[in-house]
Amino acid sequence: MKVFKFGGASLKDSKGVRNVASIIASQTRHDLLVVVSAMGKTTDRLERILSLASSNQDYQVVLDELKEYHHNIVDDLFQKPISVLREVDIHFNDLENELLTHAASDQLYDQVVCKGELISSIILHHYLLSKSISSFWFDSRNGICTDKNFREGRVDWTKTAVSINPLRSILEEKIIITQGFIGKTPDGFTTTLGREGSDFSAAIFASCLNAESVVIWKDVPGVMNADPKRIPTATVFRELPFKEAAEMTYYGASVIHPKTIKPLANKGIPLYVKNFTDPSLPGTKIHECTVENLPPLIVFKENQCLISCKVTDYTFVSEQQLTNIFHALSELDIRLNMMQNSAISFSFCIDFRENKLLKLIEKLQQHFEVFYNTGLTLITIKNYDEASFETYRKQKGVLLEQSSRSTLQVLVK
Ligand code: ASP
Ligand code: MG
Repeated sequence: MKVFKFGGASLKDSKGVRNVASIIASQTRHDLLVVVSAMGKTTDRLERILSLASSNQDYQVVLDELKEYHHNIVDDLFQKPISVLREVDIHFNDLENELLTHAASDQLYDQVVCKGELISSIILHHYLLSKSISSFWFDSRNGICTDKNFREGRVDWTKTAVSINPLRSILEEKIIITQGFIGKTPDGFTTTLGREGSDFSAAIFASCLNAESVVIWKDVPGVMNADPKRIPTATVFRELPFKEAAEMTYYGASVIHPKTIKPLANKGIPLYVKNFTDPSLPGTKIHECTVENLPPLIVFKENQCLISCKVTDYTFVSEQQLTNIFHALSELDIRLNMMQNSAISFSFCIDFRENKLLKLIEKLQQHFEVFYNTGLTLITIKNYDEASFETYRKQKGVLLEQSSRSTLQVLVK
């Protein structure tokens, strides 16, 4: 069997749903599990509603717009939309109840934002049925079991494998439509797997069902060696080793969610990244392979913050002081994207998240004089050549740079 994943961009309007259905229909009538994201920018909208609600502001307008957006898609897709609209509205009503009865928390966040995926999967499922494609709608919360770490649920693989196993017999006759991004705690609350986590959901289903392959359908022609919006000469990789793809995601390439590669690589399941507007394009195959002479791979990670900790008393930075820094980072669950030490200071770069940053600075100020810069971009060039090495090092506004034999990183203003 195969697993397909369609993201929000592919399902952003009725034309998108029709296109997704035609891609599905062109493949097979069974042995396919399809993971979908919320339509278009729905998750951002739901986050907006939550943030308005938590600051006691009126969210009704945004909520009504979101409802209308989905209603219009349904009206456009179905001759008799009533029953589908009713199903969609059950989730909107649940959402309103959640907002009215619970105070803001990470737990509430997950109960609210999950609605986007539930609704999009319902619409696609009914659309397939209306085209006489035997589709089975599966609530992925009954498959993916997580802990109670709301907003970033950690998967219980053993339980998940047991819960997903019964889908095998359904797949013998039907196509399964399910949601990305969501799971469930042992006591029945919805969890999410982190923003953009639908790719990871696809990998979880594929791993538990021993899929022959996974295809992530995107608006780009495949995995490219740079963001084509920044670098128009970017080219598509025909194939990539798992390891290379995993490292790309680590450095911030957003084409695949970082957690996606590991479960697939562990089981040797190839991952294809293909274009949903032109499925005839070859796309990229990510699998166990060696590729000679990969071109330089350039990743831009924006919204970075550089922190410098200076010792105040003319001593040198000691290992004990470094321990203090790492301890603070680990306590706040902050990941380092780059670091460098000198005689009297230690500098590092992290993703900018205001509330965490303030807490971190407070902790660091107990030991150091702390300076920081925000609004920076970390550029990573993997497999650099002479030309790219020179270009990126010599650009204006470099605050920090570092290179190994294969990778150059520069932090720029
Ligand atoms: N809808 C979720 C998000 O936008 C999950 C996903 O798209 O992968 O983050
Ligand atoms: Mg998405």
